[in-house]
Amino acid sequence: MGMTAAYEVRGLVCRLGGRDIVREVDLDVVHGEVLALVGPNGAGKSTLLGALTGDVPIAEGDVRLDGRPLAQWSARDLARTRAVLLQANQVSFPFTVREVVEMGRNPWVGHATAAQDDEAIAEAIERTDIAHLLERPFTALSGGEKARASLARVLAQRTDVVLLDEPTAALDLRHQEEVMVVARSLAAVGRAVVVVLHDLSLAAARADRIAMIDGGRLVSAGTPAEVLTPERVESVYGIAVHVLPAPDGHLIVIPHRGLSDTVSS
Ligand code: ADP
Ligand code: MG
Repeated sequence: MGMTAAYEVRGLVCRLGGRDIVREVDLDVVHGEVLALVGPNGAGKSTLLGALTGDVPIAEGDVRLDGRPLAQWSARDLARTRAVLLQANQVSFPFTVREVVEMGRNPWVGHATAAQDDEAIAEAIERTDIAHLLERPFTALSGGEKARASLARVLAQRTDVVLLDEPTAALDLRHQEEVMVVARSLAAVGRAVVVVLHDLSLAAARADRIAMIDGGRLVSAGTPAEVLTPERVESVYGIAVHVLPAPDGHLIVIPHRGLSDTVSS
């Protein structure tokens, strides 16, 4: 599969409230890969993702999507090329879950691809395990159910680029894995997937590459083994960790915990 660039980010600076939140970031995202964005709370992950979606202004530098600067994209063409799952699943009107998923098809109104509407919606519902929720009001769902319904909207959009901000944060163990299996299946058919994750072991197991952000800067980008060294994780997160191979070969990252806290006398 050709590894063509979806995004080329060069010297990106994002400034919010007079502060540089993203600082001189250079990063490529290629079709056919899952790229995990990791870093501590407040590192600038969501802001960087917002710059990729076109929602956060670029103060300095350049973000190209499919070779074209983001500023040259129309809102409609952007919506047909990249789909976004925001960190807060903002749906305030009492839409049903079915209606939320159907919204993913809005960008395709008037395009030949609209013929795929029913199939795209059905596939998205199946992959996110929400068939039993379709007639419920979105606002009445649990956090994890909202996250899956919002992911279904993103999948229904059927874009070449998929940007997910903490899609697994509210999910139970099985649904976390299922979301990342979906992400992998998108990459397998040539889509570019950027996913913000907190769980470094999940990122190590399911991402092709990891980009670690700290204080707005990209401190490391590469394979999980390249990025997730104990020294780097300790220096970025401020906590000592073990990085170990799991029985299936993926790396797992766990804090040093010792025994003293667990021993009750
Ligand atoms: P992350 O997603 O890595 O937790 P964010 O990108 O949300 O981090 O935020 C990075 C920093 O930018 C934080 O210190 C946050 O308070 C600040 N920030 C985010 N949005 C704004 C804004 N609109 N105005 C001012 N500061 C902001
Ligand atoms: Mg965030």
